[in-house]
Amino acid sequence: DDVSSQRPIASTLRLIDVRRGFGAMMAVDGVSLDIQPGELVSLLGPSGCGKTTMLRMLAGFLPPTAGRIEMDGQTISSPGMTVPPERRQMSMIFQSYAVWPNMTVAENVAFGLKLRSMSRATIAKKVRDMLELVKLAELADRYPGELSGGQQQRVALARAMVIQPRVLLLDEPLSNLDAALREEMRFEIRRLHDAFRFTTVYVTHDQSEAMVTSDRIAVMKNGRIEQIDRPYSIYNEPKTRFVAEFIGRTNLITGTVAPDEIVFNGFAIRKALFGAGRLTNTNGTITFSLRPQSIEIRSTPPNSSDGQVSVTGALIQRTYLGDSWDYLVQPAGGDAALRISAPPAQMLEVGVPVWLRIDPRQMAAVE
Ligand code: ATP
Repeated sequence: DDVSSQRPIASTLRLIDVRRGFGAMMAVDGVSLDIQPGELVSLLGPSGCGKTTMLRMLAGFLPPTAGRIEMDGQTISSPGMTVPPERRQMSMIFQSYAVWPNMTVAENVAFGLKLRSMSRATIAKKVRDMLELVKLAELADRYPGELSGGQQQRVALARAMVIQPRVLLLDEPLSNLDAALREEMRFEIRRLHDAFRFTTVYVTHDQSEAMVTSDRIAVMKNGRIEQIDRPYSIYNEPKTRFVAEFIGRTNLITGTVAPDEIVFNGFAIRKALFGAGRLTNTNGTITFSLRPQSIEIRSTPPNSSDGQVSVTGALIQRTYLGDSWDYLVQPAGGDAALRISAPPAQMLEVGVPVWLRIDPRQMAAVE
């Protein structure tokens, strides 16, 4: 079929202890990473953590100051040698997805193909198939000025993909779009990735965007990868406080290790309930990430415990978020409140006593 006949030979990328300094500033400070053929890996992190510098090195705009980058086993970047961007068979899309305003949609998409020796008929067919795929077939003869932001972004994607790059590099490609469109385009990018399976590196500071689009997410901080994992593991098994807090909201709770239990502020949990091998420290203190959605809240006492912990407390604050309630509960005898996310139908009044149910197997020990 058309899609699979256009499917490229996806490349592997390997970064080996890559570093890039600007003077004394280490923008990328020792990154090692293997990206599999057809995999979409996002680089996620706050402003200044080194994402764009990583992408510029991958694209060949900037050499590393140490380490090297390999594509399909060949070194393409090292301090002494950099294969230039135009010889890497990569496509890159920037924030300002710059489509050419004086060319129609079809001409924009055809441009990269015309630089290769290809018959008119082949080019026309490739452009038609690609526009079909990005749902722009009806708009082929329009100029970019006559398109919405999301449609222009699709033109940029089509233009980057039609040349069948061995690697696709995306730098905050949705940041110029409004919130609703950004949300929609995340799913579009994932759909297109599933169709083509380009090896893709996607830079973003938006955690939901990374969750939707990625096979794996590399969470970056200060030029290093803090954790790289599938979205599910990044969310549910964060290894550090930074990762836990950067990906969605969480409760970070610290307990003191006692012989049989972990003593938290206002409640204690028997060690056995955590499950084998899940407690990292055997003495001192230990911090856990506990997602607001992982805590159940009730207005009546639970009648069985089945491996869960019951904590009594008082509801001290509530916020309606449309798709959920955000509750703040003060455990009895403690002075640190817990945040709980409950379904919209579960409306509780501030001041009432509540019972929380916590499943220790959903608590992730973090450094
Ligand atoms: P953002 O999300 O804001 O784009 P980023 O994660 O992409 O941030 P980078 O652009 O890679 O971060 O920058 C990483 C660090 O390197 C920053 O502190 C930045 O100021 C610095 N830096 C980047 N490029 C240069 C340069 N050409 N000269 C000097 N410092 C630079």
